[in-house]
Amino acid sequence: MTYDLHGRTQRLELSDQDLRDFEAVVLESSPEGIVLSRSAFYPGGGGQPADHGVLLWQGVETRIVGARKGDDLHLIPAEGDPVPPVGTVVEAAVADERRSALMRTHSGLHVLCGVVFRDYGCLVTGGNMDELTARMDFNLPEVPPGFKEAVEDACNAEIVADRRIDVRVLPRAEAFAIPDIIRTATNLVPETVQDVRIVDIVGLDTQADGGTHVASTKQIGHIKVAKIESKGRGFRRLRIQISS
Ligand SMILES: [Zn+2]
Repeated sequence: MTYDLHGRTQRLELSDQDLRDFEAVVLESSPEGIVLSRSAFYPGGGGQPADHGVLLWQGVETRIVGARKGDDLHLIPAEGDPVPPVGTVVEAAVADERRSALMRTHSGLHVLCGVVFRDYGCLVTGGNMDELTARMDFNLPEVPPGFKEAVEDACNAEIVADRRIDVRVLPRAEAFAIPDIIRTATNLVPETVQDVRIVDIVGLDTQADGGTHVASTKQIGHIKVAKIESKGRGFRRLRIQISS
């Protein structure tokens, strides 16, 4: 199984995170979902929501409002929009503002993850994000005094340092030989997956990850730690906001 193939669709965003416009052939089509030969729409996963955008064909516009992942990757059209017939060549555009905000947010969450592990030894148990806002759950029995401010300062220092964020694909055995990958890959990559996509904030955080990220930490902007909530039994939820 190739890492960038989902059913019949080649996922272009995994190797080109800046791609917004592309051309594709419609392989399957109904109001419930459209399957394209190739797609740069991030379909959701790892806490990052699906992209929005449009398909243009024969002077018609189909708005895309989400995705459904099964044996095939189905792009979900807006209710009531006409859908292109099978065989149509469509011009597709990913909504740039939303995707770019989600890339900054996702990378911001990885910076946070790297900082709380490096400085406090905390393991992340979950996370979720929307445009420029995110939460991360982690294992921390006691919140040390000044924790919120210290985490925020450390995250922003990593942003100012403008660390590179590299994406690479490694053979399974090689990927899982990286100690950080074992730490963070709590949802084990299925056995059938031979190639593992790695997102590496060089010198800070390395994860097996299918999400889309900015190219260096400075592009994230500024991280504010808005809130720390107790989720009981040593678990905390940290909420962040991203601004320019
Ligand atoms: Zn991630």
